[in-house]
Amino acid sequence: MIEGNNSTPEAIRQMSICNACRYCEGYCAVWDAIEFKPVLNKGYISHLANLCHDCRDCFYACPYNDPDHEFKLNIPRVLGQVQVETYYANIRPKFMKFALERPILFTSLSAFIAVILVMVYSSLLFGLNKISTLPMTTIIPVSLFKPATIAIYLYTLVIWSWEALSYWSEINEGKRFTASGVMRGVYDAFFYRNFLGGGTGCKVPGENNKYFRLTAHSLVFFGFIVALISISFYPNIFGYVGITYFLGSLAISIGTVALIYIHITEDRGSRSQKQSSLDYAFTVLLFFAGITGLLIPISTGTNWFNWNFLIHDALIAVVFLIAPFSKFIHPVFRLISLIKYRSDSYRL
Ligand code: SF4
Ligand code: SF4
Repeated sequence: MIEGNNSTPEAIRQMSICNACRYCEGYCAVWDAIEFKPVLNKGYISHLANLCHDCRDCFYACPYNDPDHEFKLNIPRVLGQVQVETYYANIRPKFMKFALERPILFTSLSAFIAVILVMVYSSLLFGLNKISTLPMTTIIPVSLFKPATIAIYLYTLVIWSWEALSYWSEINEGKRFTASGVMRGVYDAFFYRNFLGGGTGCKVPGENNKYFRLTAHSLVFFGFIVALISISFYPNIFGYVGITYFLGSLAISIGTVALIYIHITEDRGSRSQKQSSLDYAFTVLLFFAGITGLLIPISTGTNWFNWNFLIHDALIAVVFLIAPFSKFIHPVFRLISLIKYRSDSYRL
């Protein structure tokens, strides 16, 4: 199916039918949140779209999801389309929209360039033959590693904040967050509350799945946090830190393999294809970052330790550098929508 550039009218049509039916109440925050707004508009549909985490529970539950039925409902797909349109509308700087157009090309090219750059940097400074024999702290001294890491983290946070402010101005309806809304929204996001689907889990990759996707997501998310904390101890990345880094990277690798499996086997008909290619590109990048991270403790003491470490660092840098122009816009917009949803619930 070809996806258009303005899915809001279609989303409003479908969600208005749902608002009369309400059978899917309890699956996720979307079904609560439509109750707060009897007449849907563009900003509110964008908000609902980013509350959706694409579990497909509502698709499989719906008696009107047949394409031949006059209602032709396909909520995960239409909300997925609107979600991607919110990325286009709020990506900053705006010229980075091209990254959303060709996510696989953009991601692979960024990774390729980053790996080439670290190779050229190390070869020019130390000579190609010596790289595997020098101590890593000679190739990447702590005085370079720490400021560069902090600069990349700050860059990502600044762009995310810029995009978050733009998204918030699109959906806020003149209301503010409440303190309890912020706390509850962060809690919901961190503990994947909505992924439980009111007890039914996620029907991805097939109609009968339950917690497979939740497990895969959690492995990637918590693995990433563990790895991030561990690498901050550089150059002391051996011993206990080496073990935690290994475990974090293992979790990322297993989680991304599971997500790639989901991508390959899922029902494409109930999914936005633009959203799907954004997911896939970033998941594959995370997979390679995870695998090279896994090889750090394994390769310690061998001739390829330094090469693997350099490639791994380059890939991690790319993860952060392109996160604001990738599927990783979604965690930011989703968090804002969860906070708005919780703030709205406390106001009622
Ligand atoms: S998706 Fe179908 S079953 Fe669920 S609320 Fe909408 S109309 Fe009802
Ligand atoms: S696909 Fe899942 S998360 Fe999205 S609206 Fe339906 S039930 Fe909610």
